[in-house]
Amino acid sequence: MIYADNAATTKMSKAVIAEMLPYMEEVYGNPSSLYAFGQEAKEALEEARADIAACIGAEPKEIIFTSGGSEADNQAIFSAAHLGAKKGKKHIISTAFEHHAVLHTLEKLKKEGFEIELLDVHKNGIVTAEEVKEAIREDTCLVTIMYANNEIGTIEPIKEIGAVCREKGVLFHTDAVQAAGHLKINVKEQNIDMLSLSAHKFHGPKGIGVLYAKKGIILENLINGGGQERGKRAGTENLPAIKGMAKALKDACSNIDQYSARLTPLRDRLIEGLNKIPYSELNGDREKRLPGNVNFCFEGIEGESLLLLLDDKGICASSGSACTSGSLDPSHVLLAIGRPHEVAHGSLRLSIGEDITEKEIDYIITAVSEVIAYLRSISPFWRDLENGKRPHVFAE
Ligand SMILES: *Cc1c(COP(=O)(O)O)cnc(C)c1O
Repeated sequence: MIYADNAATTKMSKAVIAEMLPYMEEVYGNPSSLYAFGQEAKEALEEARADIAACIGAEPKEIIFTSGGSEADNQAIFSAAHLGAKKGKKHIISTAFEHHAVLHTLEKLKKEGFEIELLDVHKNGIVTAEEVKEAIREDTCLVTIMYANNEIGTIEPIKEIGAVCREKGVLFHTDAVQAAGHLKINVKEQNIDMLSLSAHKFHGPKGIGVLYAKKGIILENLINGGGQERGKRAGTENLPAIKGMAKALKDACSNIDQYSARLTPLRDRLIEGLNKIPYSELNGDREKRLPGNVNFCFEGIEGESLLLLLDDKGICASSGSACTSGSLDPSHVLLAIGRPHEVAHGSLRLSIGEDITEKEIDYIITAVSEVIAYLRSISPFWRDLENGKRPHVFAE
């Protein structure tokens, strides 16, 4: 099997599992307990917090552990919105191609009376700091823009957007779930006030993440109860997962240049190979994209059929369209970059990991080319395109 769906989740590394085991088998005390055994767990917890802070240029006090990226996004956005509302500021700026953890939180805030402005994303999948600057108003309380997009892998100009927000005195949150462990992050240098990350996207365990909030930002609780996480997130800390996340992030950050140097040429080989398929186009900027992300639209193809046939050939991939989740709507990300519905339905995301080989890349290229040729040969829609009854969207 070739696993090419690392944007959905990653395999835990052996080193991460080894790091976690002692916190299940031996140091299983509750970090809130006062006896020495509990305090041993507490020390391990604070060590993990310091490690994670160091990886992103933050201070340990600025790190809150959450159940993952979704919770961190929710907490950041609700906190900033409600802080703003107290000062009469109820305008929030984001983009049309955010993850649903952000978009659905913003929809809730809209029902509470906030005004949500979703900026258009350019065809290359990037928004500019200039556009953010122009959108900021007197009553803007939050700008939330993702670091890297989970479907098309494009990387946003985070430092520049952060600078604009600083200049205007507006809080800036970034969903960095796809970036953490894959790209360098320094919250201070990049002018980031709040940031979300999730361990299972960089070879850590599922169900654990981090919200970084700059000193002085008052967070609102989503989970009420005990006084863990300095009163900002109740619930006994998941110490094995937290230690696993810290190990995974440390390993990823110390290896980030090699990771990128190894993966980028493999990504580019895959892009070159798939570009040879007629009537296809890469989604998102050719250069400003994650080292492991390849995303294409193919004319005359249904994403689901493509995935099922690739599965038969032992390839795990993903498609933008969400039919499997009960909706026939194509991906909001592909629509946001201006893809028409009929090609947005025929998308394929391959998110490769560092273990992939050149031989496997070539196997994927062959498999995708064959499956597409087959699906087109049996598609009445494709016949219409070939007969000229419908216009082609892409050049050959
Ligand atoms: C995966 C993902 C999330 C959600 O993270 P979970 O830890 O699975 O809740 C949020 N944002 C982006 C961009 C993601 O890729």
